[in-house]
Amino acid sequence: MGASPTKVRHDLLSMTPEKLRLSLGEHFLKRGQPDYRIGQVESWLYDGLANDFTEMTDLPQRERRGLQDAFEIDQPFAKLLQVSQDGTAKHLWLLKDGELIESVLIPADRRLTLCISSQVGCAMGCTFCATGWGGFKRQLTAGEIVGQYRASQRWARENEYGPITNIVFMGMGEPLANRRSLPTSLTTLNQGYKVGARRITISTVGFIPGIVALAKRPEQFGLALSLHSPLPELRSQLIPLELRYPLPEVLQAVEDFKKDNGRRVTLEYTMIEGVNDGLDLIDPLGEIALQLHAFVNLIPFNPIPQNEWTASKRARIQEFADRLKKKGVSVAVRETRGRDIDAACGQLKAHAFAQLEKTNS
Ligand code: SF4
Repeated sequence: MGASPTKVRHDLLSMTPEKLRLSLGEHFLKRGQPDYRIGQVESWLYDGLANDFTEMTDLPQRERRGLQDAFEIDQPFAKLLQVSQDGTAKHLWLLKDGELIESVLIPADRRLTLCISSQVGCAMGCTFCATGWGGFKRQLTAGEIVGQYRASQRWARENEYGPITNIVFMGMGEPLANRRSLPTSLTTLNQGYKVGARRITISTVGFIPGIVALAKRPEQFGLALSLHSPLPELRSQLIPLELRYPLPEVLQAVEDFKKDNGRRVTLEYTMIEGVNDGLDLIDPLGEIALQLHAFVNLIPFNPIPQNEWTASKRARIQEFADRLKKKGVSVAVRETRGRDIDAACGQLKAHAFAQLEKTNS
C-alpha cells in the first residue's frame, strides 16, 4: 500500500479577514457547527494572538482538533533576541524552511514602532545595505509578514512595551517587489489587527509598479522613498534599481501617489561621509523635497562590513538639516537607535550567521 498523500493545511495567517471568514465558515458548516465559531477563532487570532489552536479554550476540544487537521498558524519562531540599552529590541525569526528574517521594535515617547521584513534577502543590491550584499532568497508569505507583527506584539505585551502603534516596512527586502504577499498583509494588518492605515508606512527604493499599485488602494498607507541622492548618476551607484527606474520617473510616480492618496511622502536620505554629503547636493535635494512637499529624514549611515564607508560627521548632517530648513523644507535628523545591537537592516542576521559559524567550527 502506498503512503497516504499529505493533507495540505491552509495557513490562517496568510488569509485576509474576508478569506478567513469564508474558509472557517465552510469548515464549520461541514462539521455542523454554529456560525459563532467563526467569531471565536477570529477573536483568538486577531485579539488573543493565539499561536496554536490549543489556546482557543472556549472551543470544544473536538473542534480545536478539527481546526488543527484543516489549518495551521504558521508563526515564526524567535531564534535570537537582542535588546539595546535604549530599549530597541531586535528579533531574528526562524521560518518553517529554515530561513531567517528580522524585525525591530523601537520604543519612543508614547509610540512603539515595528520595523518588519518583506523578503528573505533582497534583489535590489543597494551598496550601502548589508541585506543587499547577501542577495535574494525568496518572497515572504503574507502569513510570515503578519507573523512578525503578531509575535512582536506578543513579546511587547509580555515585556511591558505596550501596544505596537506604528509599522514600517523597512526591514529586509523591497516590500513593493513582493507583489503577492504585501497587499494581503496590508489588508490583514489593517482590517484584522486594526492597525490604522495611516500608521503603516511602506518604504521603497523606487519600485514604480508597486508605487502605482499602492496609490490605487483606498486606504491611506504611508509611503517613504529611499532617495539617498538627488542626482541620478550618484544614486545609481547606491541603488542599482535607478538604472531600471530612473529618478525623474520615480518622482513622477511619487507625485501621482500623493495626489491619489493625499498623504505627505517621506524622503529617506542616509548620509555617508564623502559619498552623498557634499554641500552641492543640498540645492537639488531641497528642490525635490519642495516639489513633492515631502518630509526629509536625514539618517546617519550605519556602517556595514562590506565596505569602508562611515557616517557623515554630526556637523555635516546638521548643516544639511539647517540649510534645507532655510529653504522651507520640513526635515528631521533621525536619531540612530539600537547601535549596540546592530539594529540596521540585515546586520543581526549577518552577525547571527557569524556566531553560528563560530559555534559550529
Ligand atoms: S536598502 Fe532595502 S531595497 Fe536596498 S538592498 Fe537593502 S533591503 Fe533591499
